[in-house]
Amino acid sequence: MASGIRNVIVVGGSYVGKATALELARVIPPTHRVLLIEPHSHFNHLFVFPRFAVLPGHEHKAFIPYSSTFASVPNSSLHSVVPARVLSVQPKYVEIDREWQGSNQVPFDYLTIATGTSLVEPASMRYDDKASSAAYLKSHQDNVKRSKSIVVVGGGAVGVQMATDLKEIYPDKEITVVHSRAHLMPLYHEKMHEIIKRRFDELGVRLITGSRVVIPTNGFPKDESDFVVELTNGTKLKTDFVILATGQKPNNRLIQDLVATARDSLINPKNGFIRVKPTLQFLDSQYPNLFAVGDIADTGMHKAARPGSLQAAAVAKNIQALIEGRDPEAEISWSPPGIHMSLGLKYNIVFRNPNPAEGQNEPVVKYSDDGKEDLNVESMWTRMGVQADEPGRYHL
Ligand SMILES: Cc1cc2nc3c(=O)[nH]c(=O)nc-3n(C[C@H](O)[C@H](O)[C@H](O)COP(=O)(O)OP(=O)(O)OC[C@H]3O[C@@H](n4cnc5c(N)ncnc54)[C@H](O)[C@@H]3O)c2cc1C
Repeated sequence: MASGIRNVIVVGGSYVGKATALELARVIPPTHRVLLIEPHSHFNHLFVFPRFAVLPGHEHKAFIPYSSTFASVPNSSLHSVVPARVLSVQPKYVEIDREWQGSNQVPFDYLTIATGTSLVEPASMRYDDKASSAAYLKSHQDNVKRSKSIVVVGGGAVGVQMATDLKEIYPDKEITVVHSRAHLMPLYHEKMHEIIKRRFDELGVRLITGSRVVIPTNGFPKDESDFVVELTNGTKLKTDFVILATGQKPNNRLIQDLVATARDSLINPKNGFIRVKPTLQFLDSQYPNLFAVGDIADTGMHKAARPGSLQAAAVAKNIQALIEGRDPEAEISWSPPGIHMSLGLKYNIVFRNPNPAEGQNEPVVKYSDDGKEDLNVESMWTRMGVQADEPGRYHL
């Protein structure tokens, strides 16, 4: 490093990686800088993808420039967002897929992995640039608009939100959700299933539970033709468009060149997530300067942005402690899963599972009818430091 400044790298610039980079930039001394490495040219605000893949006119708002990421922190010009993908993590440097400041290798003192998971489109984008991703969402909207009957595969939050939006925007289309388990959103207390089922009945969304869709090797047609979707219970559904809202794959490949102290000490073979201590350092004690946060970390916590931001604060404190020669002592603590989700354009709920540690048996549920069509996307732009004070700014 020419300037002698030391690097603290965060890999992955989504909700949790960005939060970690900001927390770090606030607390580390000016001898160190934060490098946030992320291949997307813009922050992908994926909470809005299910809605913007159905409702036209807002798709460009889902992609927010990274230009002001560090604007609110002291010594902001020290820190950078590095537009690249990490191919390999080594104990003291990362290998990236393009040159940055004249090299494909970036050295570090501390590194945090926040690479999350990959989901099937439209819940995540295959493109790195804004124009292609916005064009993809538009083509998805067009496919939805021209179809008469849509099968949504998967009754997690993405499938449920898409199905309720679809039926509210297009009440004449047939919308069917197929879910493999008996209960929708099975991570949550069974009342969640009851609430969603009631809402599906109100809107006229058909629900099939306890059966899987047989997914053809080459995927489903998107050419406006009618075709048949087969379920593992033998049911056949005639449709002309299928939306996959299924499983997540952990983005763990970048650490596959690291030597593990013991078998399976880096990645949990049961789920593919990176094993961590309560301090979020790698469980493998050979790597006290490596951390993992957010969805990629095998914390046993609910995978969502909110618990992720608490983890971000703990990582920043621990890296600050290590830089200052102290022991890392900040630990994460468990909290019950909770979610704020839409069940149509305006109707939305906040749902939190009971916390047995506090003697609760019943979930906390709050209903409201105040949802905004664009899901208040402007507030995310503000949090990214970009004022969307006129409509044209959303095209940045
Ligand atoms: C459609 C949808 C709606 C959701 N709504 C909510 C909600 O309302 N509230 C909530 O709390 N949670 C919500 N969630 C869950 C939440 O989005 C995830 O928990 C959260 O995104 C996890 O954040 P993360 O930063 O850990 O990882 P991710 O969001 O998965 O991001 C990982 C990042 O790492 C980058 N990356 C991957 N590999 C590499 C590499 N090799 N090199 C460099 N960068 C890499 C990716 O490009 C990506 O930007 C939703 C999820 C989905 C899919």
